[in-house]
Amino acid sequence: MADKVPSTRLNSGYDMPMLGLGTYNSFKPNEMGDAVKAAVQMGYRHFDTAWRYTTEPEIGAAVKELIQEGKIKREELFIVTKLWVQFHEPDQVEPACQKSLEALGMDYIDLYLIHFPVACEDLEITKPTSTDYVDTWRAMEKLVDKGLVRSIGVSNFNQQQLERILKLDGIKYKPANNQVEISPYLHQENLVQYSFKNGISTTGYSPFGAPGQNYERNDAPKILEDPTIVEMGRKYKKSSAQVILRWGIQRGLVLIPKSTNPSRLAQNMDIFDFTLSEDDMKAMQALDRGYRSNVHFFTMWKDHPFYPFEK
Ligand code: NAD
Repeated sequence: MADKVPSTRLNSGYDMPMLGLGTYNSFKPNEMGDAVKAAVQMGYRHFDTAWRYTTEPEIGAAVKELIQEGKIKREELFIVTKLWVQFHEPDQVEPACQKSLEALGMDYIDLYLIHFPVACEDLEITKPTSTDYVDTWRAMEKLVDKGLVRSIGVSNFNQQQLERILKLDGIKYKPANNQVEISPYLHQENLVQYSFKNGISTTGYSPFGAPGQNYERNDAPKILEDPTIVEMGRKYKKSSAQVILRWGIQRGLVLIPKSTNPSRLAQNMDIFDFTLSEDDMKAMQALDRGYRSNVHFFTMWKDHPFYPFEK
């Protein structure tokens, strides 16, 4: 089943599976490890984590077990993790990367992302600093040269911020990927197109609008119950979740829906046997309303020059 998942070729020359598993906000012991084991059996090869998620150790342990049992090889997997905002100072980047490698029990990371453009002194992100992400980027480049990571990228960067990195004097590696929120209510078409033009792939997080996640807004619309999407699901005999993922894949995006429930894991993987028609892709286009679910945690950064979202 694994080869059913298409890949996108990164500007680093590596292939990134276009469907991965999101792993944020799973704190019950073994929950994420069990999900990773089930997911690998179903054909998932790409796992998205971050130092801040605290899921690196469970993912690493599950992968180690699967490798020992001969069910998978490390080189068949694509592991993404992220540099937390506390470690943006150039001399902190390599130690932070080493911590993630240690937690994962791996000797390289496939794709290492700067989690946010804003740096902070504290874990709880209440004390932003003036550390410039372009200096962090130069330190990220060194991780590639040292063989600790295969590709580097960013997350939650807007177009202007990508541009600043691309225009850096003496840039050695361009960002291979920008991971941003994308759902039927937040298309980010301009950012996606700008990235395509500049050889940067885009990963969409929170494709369903993050239902049940601790950052879901109180006024969150129920994207999975949107009548246009439900109706389309009926037509293709697929769930709303599957229609959303298929729409993203047809836009050329990488997607990382999160679930630990085996039947949903299987459902989210079962999207490669149908195609949304052009008219249905247009109908999806009409749903965009600039709704961002993942924003209220970051309002304290609003006046920071590197705040990445609309004000
Ligand atoms: P999501 O839209 O993937 O929503 C996840 C929730 O959707 C699950 O908890 C579950 O309740 C529900 N769900 C999953 N599959 C379903 C199905 N088939 N049918 C019905 N409901 C289903 O939101 P998310 O978890 O915020 O985003 C996914 C991943 O993206 C995260 O786990 C994380 O890895 C990543 N992420 C990254 C950032 C970042 O700043 N880079 C921010 C948020 C999330």
